[in-house]
This record gives sequence, structure tokens and C-alpha cells, in this order.
Amino acid sequence: MPVTMLMYHVIAAPKNAAEARFCRTPDAFRKDMEQIRQAGYQVLPFASVLDGIAGRVELPDKAVAITFDDGIACAFENALPILQEFGYPASVFVVSSRVGGYNDWCEVFGFPRRRMLTTSEIRALAEFGVDIGSHTANHLWLGKTEETVITKETQDSKAVLEDILGREVSHFAYPFGSWNPMTRNAVIEAGYTGACSTMSGWNRKGTDPYLLRRSEIKGSDAPWQFRMKLRFATNDMPPISDARRMLRQILKTWN
Ligand SMILES: [Zn+2]
Repeated sequence: MPVTMLMYHVIAAPKNAAEARFCRTPDAFRKDMEQIRQAGYQVLPFASVLDGIAGRVELPDKAVAITFDDGIACAFENALPILQEFGYPASVFVVSSRVGGYNDWCEVFGFPRRRMLTTSEIRALAEFGVDIGSHTANHLWLGKTEETVITKETQDSKAVLEDILGREVSHFAYPFGSWNPMTRNAVIEAGYTGACSTMSGWNRKGTDPYLLRRSEIKGSDAPWQFRMKLRFATNDMPPISDARRMLRQILKTWN
């Protein structure tokens, strides 16, 4: 059965309008988690999603995975306590060169400064069972970057995070969702077992493990919009392209 993967960024109130889309308040995030529980979904760790799409295990009827991009400190401060409250697994994709620093690559978009996870917070997250993945070293548009840089970004970030954790880091998320076939190959070459895109849609048996699909949960999403995203793995509720794809998915389910 299909798995919806949710993508979050910041779990905190927005500091300005520019970043509002990417900020889910802790209250809204807790309500999302409650909806997942009430709707009877099983929350899968990333590795189980990979096992399911590879056909190694049967995927549950209602399954969802939770991911956070960038590695902002609120993953530890605000998201972790709520995840623990519900006993849900999750993945955090960290920009390795900014560990202990700031989200300064966001400045050009007018985003306010936010503190990034420190090495000890990353270790603590891992100890609490949160899966730590790579989001490259410098958060570049990999789909528009030359090969040598792509290779370095995928390999260096893996090495840095593995050094922090003392264990293998095998999951990846493309910054800005930017990828091309060369990027995808570099991710495979670097030794990752799976990678998240920002394309919406369900993940099911046969889905490309290096182009996993995710639904972006936006700061402004109302509870009904979250419910629809959870159910149909859409991105925007309700734009035309998503509606069309949604219809195809419903028809597939019924067949
Ligand atoms: Zn990112």
C-alpha cells in the first residue's frame, strides 16, 4: 500500500512573512500528529519505507513517514518532545557545514536567522531514535551544479555526519528538491540507500528509492488540508495538477 512522506522545515512560529510557509507552529505540528493517530496511520521509519518500496516487507494499509529538512535547532527543541509524546519515528536531513551555525543560505530569501543543530543535539536526536540524514554540505541547487561539486557535496556531508554520529548515514534529501540524473547517480555513488525529492505523490512498491516523494506541510495548512495531504500525498490543496494526479491515484486504488 502507498506511503505518504511528510516534509517539514521549521517547527516554530514564523519570525517574518518570508519564512511563514516553512514554519509549522508546535501546536499545529502536535495537531498533525494527533490527526495521524486518529486516522489510524502507522508512522514508519525511513528504512522501513525503503524496505517496503523494494518489496522486502509488506507496507501497512495506512502508512506515513515524517521528515524535516535543513537541521534547524527547532527539530531538537520543539519537534522531538512532540515526536516522543506520540512515539513516532522521523528523519532529519542536516546541512553538514552549518552544524552549530546558522541558516545563512536562507538570507537571500529574506528569512530570519535561525540556529542550526549542534553536534550534541544531533547525537541526542539519534539516541532518541531519530534518523539523521544528509542534506548536503552547503545546500546548493544540485541540479544546476557541476559534477565535481555535486560529488563533494554528497560525500563530504556523509563523512561529516558519520563522524559526529559514529555510525553510517545512508539517507539523503535534495536541497530545494533540485536534482537531475547526474545528481541522482552521485547520491548512489556516495553510498546512500535512499533519497527524498520534493515531488509530491505516494511511495509504493517499485517507487525509485532515490526519488522518494513527499508532501510539503506548510505553515498555513488548515487541519482539513493536512488531512487531505496525508490521505492523497498531495502538495497544494487544491491545485489543478494535484487534483488530476489525485484522481488517477484514486482510480488506481479502486482497480
Ligand atoms: Zn533544505
